[in-house]
Amino acid sequence: MRMYDIILKKRGGAALTKEEISFLVQGYTNDRIPDYQISAWLMAVYFQGMTEQEIVALTECMAQSGDTVDLSRFGTLSVDKHSTGGVGDKTTLIIAPIVAALGAKVTKLSGRGLGHTGGTVDKLESIPGYRTAIQQTEFLELVERVGMAVVGQSGDLAPADKKLYALRDVTATVDSIPLITASIMSKKLAAGSHNIVLDVKVGSGAFMKTSKEAETLAEQMVKIGKSCGKNMAALITDMDTPLGRCVGNAMEIKEAVAVLTGQFQGDLYEVCVALATQMTALAFSVTEETANRMVLEILQSGAAFEKMQEWVSAQGGDAEYLRNVSKFPESQYKYDVISDSSGYIASMDAEVIGSVGVILGAGRATKEDSIDHAAGIYLSKKTGEYVSKGEAICTLYTNNKAVLSVAAERYKKCLMFSADAPTPKPLIYNIIK
Ligand code: URA
Repeated sequence: MRMYDIILKKRGGAALTKEEISFLVQGYTNDRIPDYQISAWLMAVYFQGMTEQEIVALTECMAQSGDTVDLSRFGTLSVDKHSTGGVGDKTTLIIAPIVAALGAKVTKLSGRGLGHTGGTVDKLESIPGYRTAIQQTEFLELVERVGMAVVGQSGDLAPADKKLYALRDVTATVDSIPLITASIMSKKLAAGSHNIVLDVKVGSGAFMKTSKEAETLAEQMVKIGKSCGKNMAALITDMDTPLGRCVGNAMEIKEAVAVLTGQFQGDLYEVCVALATQMTALAFSVTEETANRMVLEILQSGAAFEKMQEWVSAQGGDAEYLRNVSKFPESQYKYDVISDSSGYIASMDAEVIGSVGVILGAGRATKEDSIDHAAGIYLSKKTGEYVSKGEAICTLYTNNKAVLSVAAERYKKCLMFSADAPTPKPLIYNIIK
């Protein structure tokens, strides 16, 4: 078999066989096939798509490309959650401790930023000492003892996805339904949880721009999970506007703390409660109504914030940063972006806002780039809010002064104003089970 023929076949729109898919996944994982050939195949998939059988084959080959985790000791209590990626999406930092404080076993394998979207691993690494690279024995011990662990994808778990994910990030092949399905579900299957909740984002800041695409992706992933014996739920949630008011790694940790300590009640809070409710309903086999009550009670009791501190300490992080968020270093430069017009913000392009975050240093433009954990954006005004001319619409934070004016101009251009308040849109569009 030759990779050249596989690329040619896919470029022409034909379906690959399971053997061909296995050949390319194994070949890439073991460094026998170079980045440039896989990049060409990814682009062919991007334009030609994949059949259902191809997606299942790709998911299975990627899941089996490395170790798998055996969570059977936790029975039906193990629960995992995955977001398809968004801007300002720090929900894992909030819902994992909520559900763990309730007694479920949260086994969370998280990723790094991808394209214009942020990644939980990058966010957690802003806490001094926090270890995201944890071996399986310790991972299981943490879940047993603390009730949760949030770790990065180790080289041994779905290594094919780890390599493909990084390559897609820099070859403009992220927003493809078959590739996202296989990427997410291969990790979820390898990570072994009995219950899986998916947060499928839709809107300008998501990889899925339309509800139809998001529904297709959600249905596809739920189907694959169920066929592998998992309890599944997928929420389709809004990503037309960044979630919460902070975009950027350390800033998002601080915002997560604000939600868990009852200081933030907006869109972020609502989406977190909805996700935590589904996780709780699956893990404890209770109705959504009961699960929702359990989530609200544990949040109000303060036990979820206690759990966050216990978890961060258990993974080596300095939990003092959570108790006193002013300890996070501020960026050297702070710049208010001033509005040239008055009116309601009718819409904001969340993808552009994510890319402004990358320009400021909060994300990566190439695989090798490092992250500036203090960089980011505070959104003082969001869709539906009124702004007066001369008022700040956001504040930019960076350690690289040279990028400030480009970032500010880009930010301003992604907002649309209207004289009347826009009709509010739902935050949760659908739940697929
Ligand atoms: N999240 C993933 O894990 N993979 C993707 O392809 C997109 C979002």
